[in-house]
Amino acid sequence: MRAVALDFHTRSIEEREVAEPVRRREDEVLFRVLEVGICGTDRALARFELGRPPEKESHLVIGHEALGEVLAAGAGVKNLRRGDLVAPAIRRACRPSCRFCRKRRRDACISGNYTERGIIGAHGYFTDLAVDRKGDLIKAPPGLRSIGVLIEPLSVVEKAIRQALDAYGDRPRRALVLGAGPIGILAALVLLERRIPVVLHSLESPASRRVRIAASAGAGYTRGDPPEADIVIEAAGAAAAGFLAVRKLAPSGVAVILGAHNARGSFPFHDLIVGNRKIIGSVNAGPHAFEDAVSDLGRIGKSNLEALIERVPRGAFRKTLLSGSRKAPKIVHVLDA
Ligand SMILES: [Zn+2]
Ligand SMILES: [Zn+2]
Repeated sequence: MRAVALDFHTRSIEEREVAEPVRRREDEVLFRVLEVGICGTDRALARFELGRPPEKESHLVIGHEALGEVLAAGAGVKNLRRGDLVAPAIRRACRPSCRFCRKRRRDACISGNYTERGIIGAHGYFTDLAVDRKGDLIKAPPGLRSIGVLIEPLSVVEKAIRQALDAYGDRPRRALVLGAGPIGILAALVLLERRIPVVLHSLESPASRRVRIAASAGAGYTRGDPPEADIVIEAAGAAAAGFLAVRKLAPSGVAVILGAHNARGSFPFHDLIVGNRKIIGSVNAGPHAFEDAVSDLGRIGKSNLEALIERVPRGAFRKTLLSGSRKAPKIVHVLDA
């Protein structure tokens, strides 16, 4: 079967022939990959800024935001049948497993020896077929066929928001989301779904498609100086946004940093202390966050989520990976066409 892969020897991206996956265990599921979403991680992979191939191989099949359709399941799989929609979790436990991986919180792995399909040491889903264990697959209802590819990126958002709300400990009066990429827009939509007023801040035009999606769901928008908020979600991927997230925290507020790069600058430790402000870094997602993603996809207005997706053929991967515009909505490759 054909797969889109990075060649770490030639530092190039190419479509290549790979072996079809085989089910070897009773708890494994074979599925056809329907769609793969592209995000900033894929673009950084395509620039060879991160990632590594599986051991003893020189190429890595990319693609970690996948939606699949089950073709066959082992006898040990009770909850999935042929035709069911599934989204895979991307991180796999470290070996020997650390205490977080042992309790199914691989997203919080403390050894750092995990693998991630399509990113670190394990092939991804930009191909026709895949096999995963049942515990690595999240079942999506058939009604989510047109938006199920958002389950993985939304799971990252769900983990962040759950942590922010848990740490805040009361009903936030306002949330501030920094960045209007797909993660920022999804964060705004989830917070609004929780009936928390949201202000979205980014540098792009209020007329941009992504900003209009958030605005039509009820988010305020500013390119200028944003207001203080009880919860701040940094999804801009810029160091300046990390500092802004901390500066805009109301007393007892919680900032979750999802994308900011390392930075040098002055940091308001004193304000943090006297205001009981909290800063959380968050990556990946655990089982609860995936469950939250599936149930929120069913609750958030489908038209807003569908408007966030732009579908392109599988052959367009060079364009989407190497020259993908930061202004684009969520790019999704259709693989089963
Ligand atoms: Zn991603
Ligand atoms: Zn671990």
